[in-house]
Amino acid sequence: MTVSSYNPADPADLVVSVEIPGAAGTAAAVDRARAAQRAWSAAGAAARSAALTHAAEAVEAHAGELAALAVREVGKPLAEARGEVARTAAIWRYYAQAPYAPSGAVHEPAAGEGLLLTRRRPYGVAGLITPWNFPLAIPSWKAAPALAVGNTVVLKPAPEGTACALRLAELAGLPEGVLTVVPGGAAEGAALVGAADVVSFTGSTAVGQAVIAAGTARGVPVQAELGGLNAAIVLPDADFGRAAADLAAAIAGYAGQKCTATSRVIAIGDAYGPLVEALVKALAATVAGDPGDPGTVCGPVVNAAALVRLTGAIDSARVAGAEVLTGGGRVDRPGWFVEPTLLAQVPAGHPLLSEEFFGPVAVVLPAADLDEAVAIANSTPHTLAASVHTGDLDAALAAADRLDAGMIRVNAPSTGVDFHLPFGGTKSAGHGAREQGQAVLDFFTASRTVTLLP
Ligand code: NAD
Repeated sequence: MTVSSYNPADPADLVVSVEIPGAAGTAAAVDRARAAQRAWSAAGAAARSAALTHAAEAVEAHAGELAALAVREVGKPLAEARGEVARTAAIWRYYAQAPYAPSGAVHEPAAGEGLLLTRRRPYGVAGLITPWNFPLAIPSWKAAPALAVGNTVVLKPAPEGTACALRLAELAGLPEGVLTVVPGGAAEGAALVGAADVVSFTGSTAVGQAVIAAGTARGVPVQAELGGLNAAIVLPDADFGRAAADLAAAIAGYAGQKCTATSRVIAIGDAYGPLVEALVKALAATVAGDPGDPGTVCGPVVNAAALVRLTGAIDSARVAGAEVLTGGGRVDRPGWFVEPTLLAQVPAGHPLLSEEFFGPVAVVLPAADLDEAVAIANSTPHTLAASVHTGDLDAALAAADRLDAGMIRVNAPSTGVDFHLPFGGTKSAGHGAREQGQAVLDFFTASRTVTLLP
């Protein structure tokens, strides 16, 4: 059996086709990673730091090639693909410092003499399961911290991002068994959850819930970053031109295929009219086009299924009485292109208001005041990211306090969080430790309490 990926802008272009190992081959890859783990952990901080630094340098040295591959394999617009490659190198460099961080603490005995230590130790093999939409950065921001603290890694990338993951691991050049890519789909993913010592997953809510259940049943730690239904709140005092530009980027950038993309725009009171006018203009100017063109903001969606899902949702909303303010259909060119689309008056109960559709499509909703806007934003379990657009700092902080979203940006698109900030959602959007920073280093290690008496 093989797994293949195709260029979303030119579906006749086969990017890669490779053998997949099946469940037994995946378990064997975990065994090999386990055999390599003791030496990797014992190699010491300097060796692990040097290896991660080498990976960063290799990514930088092949930046053009990797960006072109992301454009071709997942339809990422070139400017964003270049940004993802730079972020990927920065992530490896950032975690190259982590092996030198203290791995525990010394505590005072409650009475008498003794040396009381807490130490954090790697679990063994980290099983990483990743989506296709950041095919270089997401594998890196899971693998680099897992490796830094002494685990070895088996990575199961999404089928659509297979070539990116394989090339990344090849360039990283880590010792045999330390970073293994297992190409494939659900069978390999499930087998990895069934064999790894710690699991980190990013992907859709439905698959993530199955992964959380399976890993938890085995008693291994599971971290999961899942889908979002992200809201943007626009107050009447906002700069509507600036807000519209930010929202167009958050709705249509990379064809809306970021987990932090905005899919619900909530306009308070008098903001509704001018905001809608400015946003329609901005989205209409964001033409879905060739991802290889450095000026393109909105490229194709990833595959035919995504195209059908998105155009079907727009059509059913239209039939149910929604107004299509701009866009609304497939772009007339080869490949899987959807027009950036804004809908109003989507009736209550329509799936566009409750499910993630993962494309350049958003709905605009009116709210009487900030209370109502926050209530609408929080009315979903998929609370990953949000944005607030206002000149009033008090109102922005009040909204940020009350929004359930895990990541909130003010006067900025909901997308685009600094790579070293804690990353994650709340409610059904996130499970377990946040990614990045100290939290993820703690996640990939288990605590030991050691008591030594004289
Ligand atoms: P997906 O859930 O279809 O697949 C994710 C990964 O899970 C893939 O590697 C897939 O092969 C694997 N998989 C599928 N079935 C499995 C199973 N039964 N057991 C184990 N693994 C299995 O998601 P996708 O289409 O690749 O990515 C898009 C989704 O990812 C969107 O929902 C998006 O919101 C989400 N996402 C979330 C974040 C975040 O940080 N919250 C970031 C990026 C993407």
